Amino acid sequence: MMTEDEIMAAYLLKGGKMLSKTCSTCGCPLFEIKGETLCVVCKESEKNVESKEKSSSSLRNNEKPTGVAPRKNTRELKGSMENMLAALCERISDEPDPERVLVLMNSVKKGIEAYNMLS
Ligand SMILES: [Zn+2]
Repeated sequence: MMTEDEIMAAYLLKGGKMLSKTCSTCGCPLFEIKGETLCVVCKESEKNVESKEKSSSSLRNNEKPTGVAPRKNTRELKGSMENMLAALCERISDEPDPERVLVLMNSVKKGIEAYNMLS
């Protein structure tokens, strides 16, 4: 996921020309590329929306995923796995159906295996 600055920098490197006009949609400077005037930021975000719609339809189109860390470090990951496992264990103790308890227990087992792989 690229920021607006990164998108513009990429187009500058590709030989695009930054114009003094700004985009009426996002307010970013427009670019002239091969004689065509366009907003590279809107162009890139359209692409992102398309690829997102293919993978998950739950995301709203206008939602900008800014400030989201793309990768968690191992320590954070372990922390959230601990929380997840704790939540699972809680669910198991509240679960009256023995078959579902088995399923949940298996999830916990898999979770612990994955957790151990991180250490
Ligand atoms: Zn724009």
